[in-house]
Order: sequence, then C-alpha cells, then structure tokens
Amino acid sequence: MKFLPDIEFALKTDSEDPLRSCRNKFFIPKNRRGEDLVYFAGNSLGLQPEAVRSYVEQELKDWETMGVEGHMHAKNPWLPYHEYLSGQTARLTGSHPEEVVNMNSLTVNLHLMMVSFYRPTPARHKILIESNAFPSDHYAVQSQIKFHGYDPADSLIEMKPREGEFTIRIEDIESLIEKDGDSIALIMFAGVNYYTGQAFSFERITKAGHAKGCIVGFDLAHAAGNLELKLHEWNIDFAVWCSYKYLNGGPGAIAGAFVHQRHLLDMTIPKFWGWWGQDKATRFLMHHNFQPIPTIESWQLSNPPILQLAALRASLDIFDETGMDALRKKSIGLTGYLEFLINQKSDDNIEIITPADHAQRGCQLSIRAKTGGKELHNRLNSNGVICDWREPDVIRAAPVPLYNTFTDVWKFVEVMFG
Ligand SMILES: *Cc1c(COP(=O)(O)O)cnc(C)c1O
Repeated sequence: MKFLPDIEFALKTDSEDPLRSCRNKFFIPKNRRGEDLVYFAGNSLGLQPEAVRSYVEQELKDWETMGVEGHMHAKNPWLPYHEYLSGQTARLTGSHPEEVVNMNSLTVNLHLMMVSFYRPTPARHKILIESNAFPSDHYAVQSQIKFHGYDPADSLIEMKPREGEFTIRIEDIESLIEKDGDSIALIMFAGVNYYTGQAFSFERITKAGHAKGCIVGFDLAHAAGNLELKLHEWNIDFAVWCSYKYLNGGPGAIAGAFVHQRHLLDMTIPKFWGWWGQDKATRFLMHHNFQPIPTIESWQLSNPPILQLAALRASLDIFDETGMDALRKKSIGLTGYLEFLINQKSDDNIEIITPADHAQRGCQLSIRAKTGGKELHNRLNSNGVICDWREPDVIRAAPVPLYNTFTDVWKFVEVMFG
C-alpha cells in the first residue's frame, strides 16, 4: 500500500475499505459535542459490539421467565453454552474445536496450565520469560516456582533485549534456548509483548524449545484477535488469553485457553479437577469418580458465567463473519499508515520502539517520547484521542481494524504533532 500524508488519502482509503461497515457494529465513544473520539485503546479494552445487548438480554429473559429450567430449555440452553463458542474460537486461533475453551480469566488459566505443564525436576526446573512480560505473568511464574519448592532466583530466566535495544532478537532467543534448554522446563512467552508491541515468532520459539525438550506456552493477551494464529499447526503446547482487549468481550470478560490435541488424552498430565471437566454423560449422576471430557473442557472447573459467554459470543460472531485474514490485511495497512505519518514528522523526541517489520508486530505501535511524554499523552487525551500511557515513557496506540479508520490515524497524528 502506497501512503500519502493528506487527509484526502485517508478519507478515500476509508471509503474503499472492504471492512468499512464493521465499524457500524460497535458503539464508538463520543465527546461532549457528540463527535466520535479516536479510540486507540482496543489493546486495553475493546469497544462494545452493538449486538452484545441482545445476546445478553436473551439470557436475562430466559432466566426471568424460566429460572433453573433455562439450563435445558432456554433458547440457547445454558448447560452446553460454552460449546456454542468453540467453533468461532477455534477458527480465530487456528485450532481444532476440542483444543479451545472459554473459561475463567487469563491469570487463572495461566496457573491452571502451569499446574499441568510446569512440572519441574532438579535437572529441569527453569522457566524462560521476557524480562518485560506483563506483571501478572511474572507473579504467576514466580509463585509457581515457589509452589514447587524452587527459588525464582535460580529457576527464572528473564530474557532482556541487547544493550541499547528495545525488542528481543529471535536469534538471541534461539541461542539462549540452545544453550540452556536442557534445564528449562517451560518457555512462557507473550505472543505480542504488551509494552513494546513486538510479536514473537511462535513457530521458531516452539521449534527451538521442543528440540530441547521444553514445554512451550504462550500468553496471547495481545495476540488474540490481533494476529492470524495457527496454534495447532505451530505445535504450541498451551496458550491462554483474555477476551476484553482485542476480542471485545467486555470488562473482565471470560478468558480463553488452548491445549494441543496431543496432550488431551494424556492421563499422566496432572490437572485440577472440577465438575465441569467431568464427562458430560455422567456429570449429573453425581458420583465421585472423575472421568475427564476428552477435550480441553476437562480443564474447566465450574459452570461458566452465561452472561459473559453471551457477550463474548456477540463479538466472536463478528470476527467469524469478517475473518482474521481480512482483518489482519487491513491492520497491516492501518498501522503502516500510522508509522508512515509519524515518520514523516521526523521529530527527534519521538521514536517508535515497536519493530518496523510488520511480521514482528500486531496493530499496536509503542511510541516513546524521550521528554515530555506525559504532557503529550495529556494533550492527546484532552483532544479527543484515547490511548494509553505506560511508565516510564511510552504511549501505546492501537488502531484496531474492526472499528478504526485511516481517518482516525490521520487525526491522531495531527493532534500528536499539532
Ligand atoms: C492484560 C494482560 C493480563 C491481565 O491478566 P488478567 O488475568 O486478565 O487480569 C495478563 N497478562 C498479559 C500479558 C496481559 O496483556
């Protein structure tokens, strides 16, 4: 795509955008004059699909009129409700339906996956993670290490970029795994780093880890609904993600998890059990003999929150209709345009720390302001732009292909350098 710096280019590109009607499926936050804000915070909290209300109201209505009977007789019976989302979730993540489930929240799922897939031994007890991984992931891995009687000081490898660089080179990840892999039990990387916006090569990390006998898991909080994923084909062991960022499931939305097919029937894998993991045919016999469902559903503990599943389903239906391939294509254009316009201004104070190679990023650009970043962020916010600030000096801007436009990108840059 050849970019031009003028607003006419942005307007024309929007008018020719094959996905332009998607924006109408979302509520766009507005200023006091009723004008649309430039919402570049879909990496924090995705916007509300207009259909959410009717999906949730259906379940409220069935609860209102049927009470407990809704489990079997609601328009969408609640008992199997999570199954209605399996196909969409599988297509979204490049998985088989039996490999994915929506349950719990991200950090809870990360712990449940580590119960199964972090099994340290004296010879192999380490976890490899990015040094600037999201704090919750750091807390989760540290506490798992301690739970098994090890010390994070010995058992946690925190991978840093090279001196003077912001992102981690894939060849450095590979050589670290090659060197230390024999002592690494679990490689736990983000799909896309929340701070830098760097997307990691799932395939190369998984291959390098497996060659050394490590389990490889990914946190897809910033990758799900952002990148095209092929979790099954890439042979990843497990993955977890939240659904309130790019997946627009609403604040605190029900999260997702993936376990590769090859692990699903492995009864040697330890697992925490609950009745929603119990074989469906015998679940209500109420006996005490746990027979796991032969899918990732056996990791479910509790009966899930139907209202949350309903809200997420409304959004997944939009992803399913649109297709991640089409969304990603637009996303590469939108983010490329943002980068182009920022670089045009060539301001010495501003640098984009997200990789320039689009294969190494999703939609987010992390914009570092050497000085005055906080003031810059305040100016953006008070001029109709919603994006976020991450200490010490980064503004994260995420143009989301479902509801953002090239005109949004143009306006963002106008305000930023205005
Ligand atoms: C957003 C995010 C979280 C948040 O965890 P919750 O359990 O959903 O509160 C965790 N990890 C990463 C990498 C994130 O981006």
